[in-house]
Amino acid sequence: MNMVKIIQKTFLIGFITITFLSACTNKQVNYAEKDVVVKNMDTTTKPGDDFFKYANGGWLKKNPIPAAYSSWGIGNVLEEELRDRLKKINIDALNAKAEEGTNAQKIGDFYYSGMDTLNIEKQGIAPLKDELAKIESVKTVTDLVNLFAYYQIIGVQTPISAGVGQDAKNSGKNLLQLYQGGLGLPDRDFYFNTDPHSSEVRTDYQNKHLSTIFGLMGYNSAEAINNAKTDYNIEKFLADSSRKLEDLRDPYHNYNKMTVSKLSLIAPNINWKTFFEAAGYKNADTVIVAQPEYYRAVNKALQLFPISDWKLYLKDKLVSGFSSYLSKPFDQEDFRFFGTVLTGKKEQLPRWKRVIDQENGVMGEVLGQLFVKEYFPEKTKERYVKLVEEMRATFKEHIDRLDWMSTKTKEKAYEKLAKVYPKVGYPDHWKDFSTLKISRASYLVNMIHANTFWHNYNANKLGKPVDRTEWGMTPQTYNAYYNPSNNEIVLPAAIFLVPGARDEDIDDAVVYGYGAASTIGHEMTHGFDDEGRQFDAKGNLKGWWQPEDSVKFTKHAQMLVDQFNGYLVYGQHVNGKATLGENIADLGGIVIGLDAFKKTQQYKEGKTINGLTPVQRYFLGYSLGWLTQNRKESLLSTIITDVHAPAFLRVNGPFSDVPEFYEAFHIKKGDKMWLDPAKRVKIW
Ligand SMILES: [Zn+2]
Repeated sequence: MNMVKIIQKTFLIGFITITFLSACTNKQVNYAEKDVVVKNMDTTTKPGDDFFKYANGGWLKKNPIPAAYSSWGIGNVLEEELRDRLKKINIDALNAKAEEGTNAQKIGDFYYSGMDTLNIEKQGIAPLKDELAKIESVKTVTDLVNLFAYYQIIGVQTPISAGVGQDAKNSGKNLLQLYQGGLGLPDRDFYFNTDPHSSEVRTDYQNKHLSTIFGLMGYNSAEAINNAKTDYNIEKFLADSSRKLEDLRDPYHNYNKMTVSKLSLIAPNINWKTFFEAAGYKNADTVIVAQPEYYRAVNKALQLFPISDWKLYLKDKLVSGFSSYLSKPFDQEDFRFFGTVLTGKKEQLPRWKRVIDQENGVMGEVLGQLFVKEYFPEKTKERYVKLVEEMRATFKEHIDRLDWMSTKTKEKAYEKLAKVYPKVGYPDHWKDFSTLKISRASYLVNMIHANTFWHNYNANKLGKPVDRTEWGMTPQTYNAYYNPSNNEIVLPAAIFLVPGARDEDIDDAVVYGYGAASTIGHEMTHGFDDEGRQFDAKGNLKGWWQPEDSVKFTKHAQMLVDQFNGYLVYGQHVNGKATLGENIADLGGIVIGLDAFKKTQQYKEGKTINGLTPVQRYFLGYSLGWLTQNRKESLLSTIITDVHAPAFLRVNGPFSDVPEFYEAFHIKKGDKMWLDPAKRVKIW
């Protein structure tokens, strides 16, 4: 499941004053201020110096990041409008007195429980009292591990992270998998990096955040400070044996299939058979251990740290994990650290928005059914299915023309490309929420029920064949992904929307840049990036490349690693290796999308619209997909945690490699984006 590629952070969107982009429309706009790309531009910036700013700078200037956000862009605008619409649906459901057990009852009561602050404040930490007592009663390592198992079910973080996913080497089979985890900070690098942002985050986390959480549990200040240190020491020990972001992208290195008895030799302090049974993974005999050295460290930690230390570690994970569903002091500290220190937000979102976001996470497909009924008719779906096929055909022509790939490998590549399965708009079958229990009594208890529901949903897959029709995103998500184990691209309806624009106002050039290149082409080429190319047409981790072709691919890819390593964000280098797959996909999407666009009437006619040529509009359309800006803290954090480069580099980086970009905007030596032709990367 960690293999799934996403193009950016998830945004929820929909129900808006906009309609869908059309791949077929060719109508033109007469007024520049209505032009979906022109209205965002900053023409005082030279396109060759900073194309991102040239394309989007006007909008970014007029739309500063609101206080409650760490970033603000096209996805957020869509998300805001969706929430307004969902609020009405929630309140209607709440007032309808729907029959117990129906989706409407669940939506209404979930919203009620989240908004019932009188009850939440009155209860304080009380909803976690029984759970804290369970931690208090732990006496042995066995007790501790039993609690770890129970926490898998109710959704509390522990050093063990288990889940059921496709076997990378036998994609039709579901297998139990173990991953590294157990940290309070979002990546292991935060525990060791010496740059100012990482140091600040780490210091606040140790000296302020953790001790505040312990203080809120009722410890006096001296105890709280000591407890925070104890908790932090366990986390740091686990972080030290955790793999770095770029090392998690090697599918072979992170595939270590073994029997449960073999796992018991790696980590003998845990009775794995008992653990898996207690965690709801029935009759597990085989497990894929993604990072065995991490589990050796967990085993060691169970001996190294006394039970009293582990109890503090777990109390923090329990309370921290549920802070946003508890009373104000817990919620505010959670926001202060994770919202402000880590990502630079100035204030919290209004409560109703946060509750709706949670609801979207819990029952997103219930809301999604309402969304597509109104906004994604069958006709629209057909249109995007067609655009996928145009991109597939153009990608094949690109592979045909490659001078570095042998005929033997090309044959296999055609086969894989032909089998890329597109899921467009929304799923054929909706998930069944009948076993999910939601009431008005307690927001926190609703969240525990929701976590349990999703745990059981996943655990029940064990021993059953893979359901290849399943969707890992809701249709109202402003995002998309490629799943190498299914060799599929999943394109939620919402990703094709442009806020504030009507279908008939958008020309093909923009559609091919925005929808075909930055989404469809991007996801399609993920099947052939440094990671995806290691999976075959059936989604199995199995080599199909001639060795000399692999060498040539890696040589081209290394140029892109070097290019991105060279970019600086607030003095910090982008991680070229960790972002390689995404950068290959961006570059691939752009060059394939452009050639697909060249087959359209608009390109052939060559007429300018509002002073822009078709190709210029294509590049502006692509840039529209990355119309977003981040706060400094947020950018510095995502450089550590995200396999995607910052938005401005997802435009400026790959454009610097594309010859048509230089031609279209007359980029010359001396312009900041100009790259020596010998350094320009061409993979597809
Ligand atoms: Zn991607």
